[in-house]
Amino acid sequence: MKITVLGCGTSSGVPMVGCRCEVCRSDDPRNRRRRVSILVQHGDIAALVDTSPDLREQLLSAEISRLDGVIYTHGHADHSHGIDDLRAINYHMNAALDAYGTTDTLRSLQERFAYAFGEPRTWWHSPALRAKPITGPFEIGALKVTPFEQIHGRGVTTGFVFGQREAAYSTDANALNDDAIETLRGVKLWVVDCLGYQSYPSHANLEITLGWIERVRPRLAVLTHMSHQFDYATLSAELPKGVVPGLDGLVIETEAL
Ligand SMILES: [Zn+2]
Ligand SMILES: [Zn+2]
Ligand SMILES: [Zn+2]
Repeated sequence: MKITVLGCGTSSGVPMVGCRCEVCRSDDPRNRRRRVSILVQHGDIAALVDTSPDLREQLLSAEISRLDGVIYTHGHADHSHGIDDLRAINYHMNAALDAYGTTDTLRSLQERFAYAFGEPRTWWHSPALRAKPITGPFEIGALKVTPFEQIHGRGVTTGFVFGQREAAYSTDANALNDDAIETLRGVKLWVVDCLGYQSYPSHANLEITLGWIERVRPRLAVLTHMSHQFDYATLSAELPKGVVPGLDGLVIETEAL
């Protein structure tokens, strides 16, 4: 299985517009973070998780022209507002795309992007998505996906385990219950929320994330949804073995772990 980190930045992206802090003004390209998204590839199957506002650049960078499905973690703007850029995928595939999410997530997307869930259109003026409500583990071709619930401030998000614990994705969470930890335990690769050093009501900070990692014990943990509190080089040097900061464009083959 191959996981590509398409974006690892918090909702504002890094640099944040107008911010003059050291990280936002840094020359280190590793401190430039698009809004969070990953691509999961398994055999011939390619699944995109979320449609960030940076989706166009992300699809271009990863040279993606077809997808077997889009999986949504939740409906927040930084995870959904790039939805229109799926038009290019519809165009190249000449087909509608399956969009997976909980009933609540799909409802929130359909309220705001009703036009994207219509019947396929000849010229792909708008995306064409088929809502696929998640009710439990599901499959996209040979890719097995196991969803689980995560606490995200006053709301909930969906985390996902891919394959037989080959990889997992936990963005936008400030708390994980025991069921979630059990579902994740022993996963090879875990891409996991870590906003910064300071505590935040709807995201994990470094202390919380490292605590989760100790319980889940992945072979490799990659931090994501990172804000400008994190300078890549500084954070890299602080992290324990087996934990790395996210990096846009990072590709991990789980067979190598
Ligand atoms: Zn800044
Ligand atoms: Zn969110
Ligand atoms: Zn977010």
